[in-house]
Amino acid sequence: MDFILFGPPAAGKGTQARRLVETRGMIQLSTGDMLRGAIASGSELGRRVASILEAGELVPDEIVISLIEEALGEAHGAGAIFDGFPRTLAQARSLDEMLARRGRRIDLVIRLVVDRDKLLSRIERRFAESGRSDDNPAAFATRLEAYLRSTTPLIDYYRAAGKLAELDGMRSIEEVAQAIDAAIAARCGAASPSAPDSLTAPSAKR
Ligand code: AMP
Repeated sequence: MDFILFGPPAAGKGTQARRLVETRGMIQLSTGDMLRGAIASGSELGRRVASILEAGELVPDEIVISLIEEALGEAHGAGAIFDGFPRTLAQARSLDEMLARRGRRIDLVIRLVVDRDKLLSRIERRFAESGRSDDNPAAFATRLEAYLRSTTPLIDYYRAAGKLAELDGMRSIEEVAQAIDAAIAARCGAASPSAPDSLTAPSAKR
């Protein structure tokens, strides 16, 4: 099973991805984490992308595509959760090709829908707690705009492919987790590992 967790910055993708790693043994592939790791390590790639992340803009497609290609080399039976990737149609098409070459495909795209005010209040809290520089309010506004501009076409792309599950991301972490489990069960027929009741979560019905 390979999933995409899709949603704007601070929609809760990272939190939910980590939970899927713990409960299902999947791997989380977050291009944001990879890029921040490259910056922290002081590598050449890190130096190339630092100012782009700082400004809240998107790094070039070929950079994130090659990061994902490299990570996919480490094959993983339980599958991958793509978090923050793809963000553009070019990335989405590359991902389809990379997976097809490995006899895999995206099974489900989980879109967490959260309104702008909620995102802003979450990001203010996260910035106060972590001090992550691209969470400062000005960079965040740019990130959100870049997200909306580049990724909105992806919603149609995955909807047309019949892979999109849209969930209300405004609820509690646990409620969102249950809705995700229900969407996975509905799509992949897999029993939920931790929350059997979630099969009845209404928002994930397709
Ligand atoms: P995230 O943690 O996913 O919000 O990503 C943090 C930042 O990394 C973004 O604001 C972009 O500058 C960059 N980034 C992460 N993933 C991608 C991607 N798939 N395409 C382009 N830029 C990305």
